Amino acid sequence: MIRAMLARIRQGHRTTGYPRVPAVLPERFRGYPRLDPSRCPGGCHACGDACAYGAITHEAGTLRLDMGKCIFCPECVDACPHEALAFGNDAQLSSNTREGLVVLSGEERQKTRAMGDELISLFGRSIKFREVSAGGCNGCEADTNVLSTIGWDLGRFGVQFVASPRHADGLWITGPVTANMKEAVRIAYEAVPSPKIVVACGACAIGGGPYAGSPEASDGIGGLLPVDLYIPGCPPHPVTILDGLLRLLGKIR
Ligand code: SF4
Ligand code: SF4
Repeated sequence: MIRAMLARIRQGHRTTGYPRVPAVLPERFRGYPRLDPSRCPGGCHACGDACAYGAITHEAGTLRLDMGKCIFCPECVDACPHEALAFGNDAQLSSNTREGLVVLSGEERQKTRAMGDELISLFGRSIKFREVSAGGCNGCEADTNVLSTIGWDLGRFGVQFVASPRHADGLWITGPVTANMKEAVRIAYEAVPSPKIVVACGACAIGGGPYAGSPEASDGIGGLLPVDLYIPGCPPHPVTILDGLLRLLGKIR
């Protein structure tokens, strides 16, 4: 027993201090994009040509990067000889709207806003999600799952994942919603009591990700259900997920 207690003291406190303490991310982490079209010589589309997902366009002196389509690979950065774009270290990427994920050079970003006062009073201290894995690769589930470990301890914010949509306040969707999962998602949504919220976690759930355009997928959840929170990434970093969720719940303003 003494040995166990000493080990516990030696190990100390392992849970991240985020959001009280800023997250320290590795240098190679790719976060919020920085676009500088003033560096682009006329007619150059090297970045757009390099993107297999149609996430970046360059028109009339404006660079536009859609984080909802982006998988942060980063072929566009490597293809640009003029250093007109780069990925920064900022993990705050989520948005309440699909348009909010579009980064336009020279325009202010739209971070996630807290849900309305009525929903905050209902869910702000305790919210439960039913996760629906709708045909992705499991990467997004893995990084969502990390939040329930001791390193993140999502429970300290009153957030829990539950087994049944009937016990949930919202759905947490990952994957592009394959043909086989479409009906299951609809049934799960109807089983959640109102009011309810929907989170699209990862490029697949937002717009199909690497599976976009497949006749076997629905290009994400947006065309099927109303979405309250979009969390980009492939998969999103746990800090990106946590940050979006805490903003939606009004715990970060
Ligand atoms: S980082 Fe995003 S925008 Fe750039 S090539 Fe990859 S998917 Fe396309
Ligand atoms: S967004 Fe990327 S990590 Fe998430 S399910 Fe799709 S392919 Fe996998």
